[in-house]
Amino acid sequence: TELFSAHRSCTTCPYCGVGCGVAATRETTSGGGEEVIRIRGDEQHPANNGKLCVKGSSLADTLGNHGRLLKPRLHGEDCDWETALDYAASKLRETIDAHGPDSVAFYLSGQLLTEDYYVANKLMKGFIGTANVDTNSRLCMSSAVAAYKRAFGADAVPCSYQDLDEAELVVLIGSNAAWTHPILFQRMQAANAKLVVIDPRGSATSEMADIHLAITPGSDAALFNGLLHYLTEFGALDQGFINEHTENFADALYAAAEWTPEKVAEYCSVELDQLLEFYELFRTSEKSVSFYSQGINQSSTGTDKNNSIINCHLATGRIGKPGCGPFSITGQPNAMGGREVGGLANMLAAHMDFTEDNIDRVGRVWNAAKMAQGPGLKAVDLFNAVESGEIKAVWIMATNPAVSMPDARRVAAALKKCPTVIVSDCVPDTDTARCADLLLPATTWGEKSGTVTNSERRISRQKGFLAKPGEARHDWEIICEVARRLGFKEAFDYRSAADIFREHAVLSGFENNRDHALRAFDISALANISDAQYDNFIPLQWPVNAAHPHGTARLFSDGEFFTPSGRARFVAVEPTCPKQQTCDAYPLLLNSGRLRDQWHTMTRTGRARKLLDHSEAPELHVHPQEAKKFGIEDAQLVRVESEKGQFFGRARVTATQKPGQLFAPIHWSDNLAHNATVSALAIPFTDPLSGQPELKQFAVTIEPL
Ligand code: SF4
Repeated sequence: TELFSAHRSCTTCPYCGVGCGVAATRETTSGGGEEVIRIRGDEQHPANNGKLCVKGSSLADTLGNHGRLLKPRLHGEDCDWETALDYAASKLRETIDAHGPDSVAFYLSGQLLTEDYYVANKLMKGFIGTANVDTNSRLCMSSAVAAYKRAFGADAVPCSYQDLDEAELVVLIGSNAAWTHPILFQRMQAANAKLVVIDPRGSATSEMADIHLAITPGSDAALFNGLLHYLTEFGALDQGFINEHTENFADALYAAAEWTPEKVAEYCSVELDQLLEFYELFRTSEKSVSFYSQGINQSSTGTDKNNSIINCHLATGRIGKPGCGPFSITGQPNAMGGREVGGLANMLAAHMDFTEDNIDRVGRVWNAAKMAQGPGLKAVDLFNAVESGEIKAVWIMATNPAVSMPDARRVAAALKKCPTVIVSDCVPDTDTARCADLLLPATTWGEKSGTVTNSERRISRQKGFLAKPGEARHDWEIICEVARRLGFKEAFDYRSAADIFREHAVLSGFENNRDHALRAFDISALANISDAQYDNFIPLQWPVNAAHPHGTARLFSDGEFFTPSGRARFVAVEPTCPKQQTCDAYPLLLNSGRLRDQWHTMTRTGRARKLLDHSEAPELHVHPQEAKKFGIEDAQLVRVESEKGQFFGRARVTATQKPGQLFAPIHWSDNLAHNATVSALAIPFTDPLSGQPELKQFAVTIEPL
C-alpha cells in the first residue's frame, strides 16, 4: 500500500540539496508475511521526476532501530524524559542567570526540518535573548548567502532546476555534481548543454565535460575577473541591462581590467588556448548557468569568489531569464530552510537582518520575552568561545561538529571541558555525542514530519511513515518542552508541525511592505493553510504570496532586485590566494571532497552495506609523481600531517590530481577508523564576510606507514 495516498508529494530524500521526492511503500514478502519498506522516486516531484541516485534508492537499507539512541542518557546512564528535560532546562537557566544569555549557544543542522529550526531560533533569539544560534550550514553555503545579499539585496537564489534543462552552457565550478548532486547532473546531461568544469582535480564530472579547467586551487576569482574583462573586450556586455538594472559596474570592471587572458592563464595554471575556448564559449552562449557549491564557498574568500561569478551574469544580463543565472547549490537537504527561519547567527528570522525595526517587528509576532539585539557567534567563533569558556552551555542538534569543523579535534577537546553539553541525535555514538553530558533521543528520516527547502527555493514536505522508535521524540517537541520548563509556556504551545509552519508563514509576510529586501522570502499565502493542505502540500518555490500564490520559478525576471535602489550591485573583486599555503614543512596541498555513495559523517549511509562497497575505508589519492617522491605504493597506508593534526588513509595512486596535490574524502572520522578525521588537518581560517571556514585545501606532508 502507498504510505501516502491521494497527494502529490510523498516525502523527500534526507541527503543532498537537490531535494528529490521519495515515495515509500510498505510491502509484505510472499510466504513469510514480513513487512518491508520499498523506496522509489516520486514521479510527481518536480525536482527529480521519479529518479533517485544510489544514496536515495538505498534509504530503506538505512532504516531500523539497530544502533539507535532510544532513551535519554544523562552522564552515560539511561534516564527518563522528565529527568532529562529538567536537567537541560535547569542547566540552561543556571548558566543564563549566572553568566548572561550570551553564555549559552545552540548549534543546529541542515538535517533539521524547518519547523525544528524555527522553534530553536525563536527560543534563543526571542526568549533567551541571544543570537548564539548557528548551524552547520555555515560550513556549506554561507558565502553564497553573503554574496547574494551583496549583489541582490537578499539571500535569494535566482534560478530553477528548469534553467538547467534550458541552458546551452552549464559552467560547474568547484563541484563534482556527478557524485554530489547526481540527479541534477543527469538533468544537465539530458539537456545536452555544453559542460565546462572548473575544478583543480579530475572527477567523474570533469570526465564528462567539454572543457575541464584544472585551475590552481583557490584561483577562481581571477578566472572570473578575467572572464568579465574578456566579455568587455569582445563586446558581449548587455549595456542596456547594466544601465537600467545595476550599479557599481565601473568599479568591478576596474578591478577586472588587469586580468588579461595571459595573466589569468599563468595565475590559474591553465593552458591559454583552453582558457580562451571557455571564455569564447561563455561569450557566445546566451543561455548560460553557472552552477557552484562547496569548492567556491569553503574558502577564506568565498564571498568574493561568488560575486566574481555573479558579476559575469549581471554584465551579460544573463539572470532572470530561462536557462540563465548564477546558481549556488546547497549541500544539505534543508540548508535553505534553515536560512529562512534565521538559523544563521547573523540573521534574525525570515531573512531579516538585525535592524531595530526588524527586532521590534519579530518581537511583536512572537510576543517575545527578551529579543537578541544583534548578531551572535558564527560556527568557528562559537566553538572558539566554547574553548575559551565564554560559552558554558551548548546544545547541538543533529550534527557532528567534532568531525566536521576545521581543527576538529580541538573542537572535540573544547566540548569535553565545556560545563554543559546537550546533544540531540538519533544515534548515541558519534564523535560529538561522546562529548555530551546529556543525550536526547531524536526521531530521524522516516519518522519526522515537517518541511524542507531545496536548492531551487522549493518547499516540500518531509513525512514520517514509521512510528517513533523507543522513547525518541521530534526535535521541535524536545525544544518546546525545554522552553516551557524555562517559563515560556504559551509561545511554545504548538500542537503540531503544521502550527509552527503557519506561524513561520505569518512572520515571513508581517509588515514587510516597509523593507524591499523582506519581500524576497515571503510565504504569507501559506499562513492559513489547513492541516489537510499541509499534509498534502504541493512543492512550491518561494516567494508564495498574494502576487505569486502558486510560487515563483525564477527571480528578477522584471529586472527588479531587493536592494534599496532596486538595482543589482556589481562587486569589485581583488583575487586573493587561499590562506593555507604550502611551505617547506608542508609541501603538498590536500583537497577535500565527497564520495559518490557517502553522506557527511556516514551516520546514515554507513548503515547501508552496499554503499560501503564503493569505498570501504579512508582513502588518500596521490599523484604518481608524489608517490615516487615520498616512497608510497598503491594501497599502502599513509600518514598525512598538517600544522594542526594527522590523518591516516590508504593510498590510491592516481593522476586525477595535479602533481603536488592530494585528495581525501571527508566522510570518515576518528570514531570509525584511527586518525580518519580529515577536517582535523584544517587551520580554521574564515571568510571575513560570511564566517565560512576554508575547508577545501590544507597544506600537508605525507609518509608511508
Ligand atoms: Fe536526490 Fe540528492 Fe537524495 Fe540523490 S542524494 S536521491 S540526488 S536528494
